[in-house]
Amino acid sequence: MTTFSFSLHIGETGPLVKGSEPDRLRIPIPCHTPILAEGDQVLAGTKIAIANHDGSGDMHAPLAGTIKDILPESMLIKVSGKDRAKAKKPPAEDGETIREWLRDLGVSVKNITRSTTLIINAVPPEPGISIYEPLLRDYRKTLELGLETVQRIVESSKIFLAAAKGNRANAFANCTVLHVTPIYPNGLDEIVVKTVTGQEMLPGTLPDDTTILSVKDLYFIGRVMETGRPITETILTIDNQNHLIRVGTPVGFLVAESGTMVQPGDRIVMDGLMRGLTAINLEQGVDKDTTSLQLIREDKGLKPTDNFCLGCGECERHCPARIMPGMISRCAEFKQFERAENFHIHSCIECGICGYWCKAQRPLLQYIRLAKYELALLRETKTPSQPLVEFIETGQNGEKE
Ligand code: SF4
Ligand code: SF4
Repeated sequence: MTTFSFSLHIGETGPLVKGSEPDRLRIPIPCHTPILAEGDQVLAGTKIAIANHDGSGDMHAPLAGTIKDILPESMLIKVSGKDRAKAKKPPAEDGETIREWLRDLGVSVKNITRSTTLIINAVPPEPGISIYEPLLRDYRKTLELGLETVQRIVESSKIFLAAAKGNRANAFANCTVLHVTPIYPNGLDEIVVKTVTGQEMLPGTLPDDTTILSVKDLYFIGRVMETGRPITETILTIDNQNHLIRVGTPVGFLVAESGTMVQPGDRIVMDGLMRGLTAINLEQGVDKDTTSLQLIREDKGLKPTDNFCLGCGECERHCPARIMPGMISRCAEFKQFERAENFHIHSCIECGICGYWCKAQRPLLQYIRLAKYELALLRETKTPSQPLVEFIETGQNGEKE
């Protein structure tokens, strides 16, 4: 079994390593509309898909090549070179003009709105994910340019850098450093906002008069400003090392590059063991938001079951949202999705802690995500943020210390 620690303490890490170039890219586009067709040639930086949701960034090709396949959730590019599309000059205007320019170059600007308080979240999202550490240490100028650019939109009078106690926290000009206890789930945005402002926000909503961005967001905004080129990479922790990886790089390629063989029944978990999702297959490409990859051997980790809820209340005792995961999971199990709203399902921040503690090893987070998905379809108020296929297998793995 994998031993799981809730500690968010990150020691010294090595420099960011640039990932190798794969011969194909499977670019995730579940929330985008493709604007090119199979057979089209692209350059590195060519726009390939438009975001369906207001404020989400458009998608661009990370490398030159030919589009070989377009599915509803991904686009396959066969890589054949490094020729790049022309860089774009940043606009001199502030506010909506620079915001739209960033969005056009792949930056998600949903959270970037005019507000009094700006929070830079440097607390690791999950234990073992150390992507902010090399950025704070080695890319100071890029982060400062990112912050300067964000301020051209947000115009905040108060800036906070939230960091886990004991981790690196280099303040920026006019910025107050705020230390949080280095224990999961204190790095999740909802909890950081509550710690800094006292506000409780529902997941998927924006806090009042507050903008929260991660150190990684600032880094990529700084990079877009420095280069005039779109975001086509992400930063991932793999085996305690941080890598700059092109969006769409297949997870199987990355695991092989790390010198590990995947055996039948193993799982590759993207984004941490508590909240992450298992890659559907080795060809699945990483997204702009992917923050880590972990290989879980078949004989390690918890096996979810369809055991009955014992009503022991252990999940409630650990839930940071103070709701009743056991009751919500029962509603989902028996397809009483609307009833789950009586138990405040929308307050769930999807930290996964309830499933970790469940005496019956019920897949609580998966039940909750399924119920949220069904409710979104039922209400038709919005398209669910993740396709249903992602709910089929998820990462939650580990053993109590
Ligand atoms: S995932 Fe579970 S523990 Fe976390 S907020 Fe939701 S119900 Fe509570
Ligand atoms: S911990 Fe598991 S068994 Fe206990 S009440 Fe919660 S869901 Fe039911």
